[in-house]
Amino acid sequence: MKNFDLATSPMVAVWETTRADAPYSGAISPDWESRELSATEAEKLIRDVAEMRAPVFVFAGANPLLRPEIYSLVRYACSCGLRPTMVLSDSPVLTRKAILKLKSSGLSRLGLTLQGSNAGLHEELSAAQGSFPRTIQAMRWANECRVPLQMHTELCRSNVGDLENMASLLKSFRMLVWSLSFPVPEEKSRSAEIFTADELERIFERIYDMAQTVPFKVKTVEADHYRRYVTQRRTLFRVEKSGSNAMPFREEGIPGVLPIHEGRGSVFITSTGEVFPNRHISVSGGNIRKEKLKEIYRCSHLFRAFRDTANLKGKCGRCEFKEMCGGSRARAWVLAGDMFAADDSCGYQPALAYKAG
Ligand code: SF4
Repeated sequence: MKNFDLATSPMVAVWETTRADAPYSGAISPDWESRELSATEAEKLIRDVAEMRAPVFVFAGANPLLRPEIYSLVRYACSCGLRPTMVLSDSPVLTRKAILKLKSSGLSRLGLTLQGSNAGLHEELSAAQGSFPRTIQAMRWANECRVPLQMHTELCRSNVGDLENMASLLKSFRMLVWSLSFPVPEEKSRSAEIFTADELERIFERIYDMAQTVPFKVKTVEADHYRRYVTQRRTLFRVEKSGSNAMPFREEGIPGVLPIHEGRGSVFITSTGEVFPNRHISVSGGNIRKEKLKEIYRCSHLFRAFRDTANLKGKCGRCEFKEMCGGSRARAWVLAGDMFAADDSCGYQPALAYKAG
């Protein structure tokens, strides 16, 4: 992974298979449905991702199982050499039979969402009655069918106090990764939804301590400064152990977690083929109906700019952690209206940084 060239290949390619989500948000309009990528276009997208050798390909979207050809697309992705993942929410179509069919189609990993350790909290945040027992059941089925499991949680003020309880619950399942997403408000006026820099440092401390006690990896999304936090904690540990006060920061990465920040090595392909840097930044580098994905990723002004950390502004621009972190470009986009602005939800001050001796 160390020699992976982000200029030619993304680490992660996520395809929003569909925006349909029956029975919750309901079916999409026939007009929108007719605009979503056809099965043939989806196969072309899969070939493009495989040609770029992206290590992670994710079938995402409101409910991928509502695409009738989804199983054959999983098989097709495998035949092209990809190891596909699928992220699903609970729904009546997420059955044991569906999980078994995904497995026999070659799915490498199943992602499910858990918003709390109990029905009240999970269902309040999911806005779906009965969702908690269905999610737990789907997790059991995944374990029984031996489909590797990855869990997702969108952290917010309501469930952050439940973090350790969720970790205890998850420990009773066999799973690979717990992915914790931090809030990106839909618009600037909702900035109260995000955690302050001080709150985040305390949450990072809890995540780090909890991560030492669970048998799965823990990663953060839209909080890449957790990598900075982990690096600082490990450096502090080495300093204390060695008695030296001149220990440089060393990026060791987080085992089992890809060594990138979202903006630099990801592509998000919408259900109509637009290519965004991630799902929160609805700025398109191009459309796969008109150009090949690799042309958009490698050559578009947008993606080239995203990969270049020289474009980062403010404290993120002069931070020694910017290659491993870079801050949340999505939060900068929503809050500052500038994708390259500093991420103010980070409390680190580069000007006061520890200097290698
Ligand atoms: S200042 Fe920016 S680049 Fe540095 S650790 Fe904080 S968010 Fe990351």
